[in-house]
Amino acid sequence: MQSTVCELNKCTGCAACLEVCSKNAITIKDSLKAYNAVIDNEKCVSCNACHKICQNNSPIISKKPESWYQGWTKDKEQRLKSSSGGVATALAKYFVANGGIVCSCIFRNGKFIYDFAESLEDVEHFSGSKYVKSNPTGIYKKIKGYLLNNKKVLFIGLPCHAAALKKFVGEKNAEENLYLVDLICHGSPSPRNITMFLENKDRNIIDVKHLAFRDNNNYRIMLNGQGLDTPGVYDSFLLAFLNGINFTENCYSCNYAKIERVTDITIGDSWGSRLSAEEIKAGISLMLCQTEKGLNLLEDSGIELIDVNLDNAVAHNHQLEHPYIKPTKYDKFFNVLLKTSNYDNAVKASLTRTYINQQIKRILVKLKIVSKN
Ligand SMILES: Cc1cc2nc3c(=O)[nH]c(=O)nc-3n(C[C@H](O)[C@H](O)[C@H](O)COP(=O)(O)OP(=O)(O)OC[C@H]3O[C@@H](n4cnc5c(N)ncnc54)[C@H](O)[C@@H]3O)c2cc1C
Ligand code: SF4
Ligand code: SF4
Ligand code: SF4
Repeated sequence: MQSTVCELNKCTGCAACLEVCSKNAITIKDSLKAYNAVIDNEKCVSCNACHKICQNNSPIISKKPESWYQGWTKDKEQRLKSSSGGVATALAKYFVANGGIVCSCIFRNGKFIYDFAESLEDVEHFSGSKYVKSNPTGIYKKIKGYLLNNKKVLFIGLPCHAAALKKFVGEKNAEENLYLVDLICHGSPSPRNITMFLENKDRNIIDVKHLAFRDNNNYRIMLNGQGLDTPGVYDSFLLAFLNGINFTENCYSCNYAKIERVTDITIGDSWGSRLSAEEIKAGISLMLCQTEKGLNLLEDSGIELIDVNLDNAVAHNHQLEHPYIKPTKYDKFFNVLLKTSNYDNAVKASLTRTYINQQIKRILVKLKIVSKN
């Protein structure tokens, strides 16, 4: 029988264990419904390094925020292009302009990988939320190397990946030169979901140069700048994501869905903001600061910082209190998806009423009987 590095179906896919294994004995298996880091017993020499590095096998230090804001980048064009208020891109731009290196997620050749940027131009490619599990393979040793060479690194990514990085480089190496920013995260699906969804639409993900999941405040799949579906209508992938039914198993017991954070700064959407409708439409980010280092970075980056009521922000963003609750039709969704490889079928079978409502809306919008908003 094959053994796994951590408890079955609890793997986040952080890939830290792959990087510490000198025998190349670990492979991450993606069953669509769960990730598992599987050990090849023929190659394994039982050194225990993978078990020790795994975030699921020992607690990771987290901290309550010391200050909190809502706001946006002062670059108006960037604010419109970004998912929320463009704060991530503003931080990244400030960081590279001051000689630092940024590590974040990019869509390239059909894959969602982490990459490094040292110029303003390269940083722009990170912009936008990718609503799938990104792949951090290969970043850990590289970042540790930068830190040991006294270079400053800004990491922007999923909370479980930030936790893995912190553990890999060690608290001491992280202290001065590593700036950790995590996204508020309600869960993420395997990227095979979007590949399959696009295949159902006769699109090959490899042929897509630019893939966006959001057109600022509107959730919408955009391929090379063109909306895939009727504006104002949610396609099956987004219905599944927004209803939290297509995440990998581990996300429903996520260790990071709480107010205590593992990073210097946490960013997300400022849901429930009491600012004007005009500002909300333009995009507002929520920012939580756990360290003085994080607060200094936020203040220096020239971001518009406005007071926010933390209790209200948390009440509108449950991922700051508890993990997403697994929908009752979760198994049904994946049973149909794995059997038919058809996204519409799986969503129709598990989120029937929602699916039909969107079908009706699609017709009404096309006939201009209802507006797209
Ligand atoms: C899977 C997922 C679930 C989320 N759930 C919530 C939620 O429940 N509540 C909430 O308030 N916010 C959530 N967010 C965060 C939100 O969608 C925005 O990404 C965040 O507010 C940053 O917006 P921005 O305008 O500052 O970023 P931008 O300037 O648009 O930049 C986004 C930054 O995030 C990085 N990034 C995007 N996707 C990924 C990814 N998959 N893995 C690693 N890095 C990535 C980009 O590389 C870039 O650096 C989620 C994001 C993701 C990826
Ligand atoms: S115990 Fe050591 S050799 Fe075996 S898989 Fe883990 S890291 Fe690799
Ligand atoms: S959570 Fe990360 S370190 Fe742990 S088994 Fe999965 S990939 Fe490996
Ligand atoms: S919900 Fe938790 S485990 Fe899942 S992707 Fe987000 S941070 Fe990682």
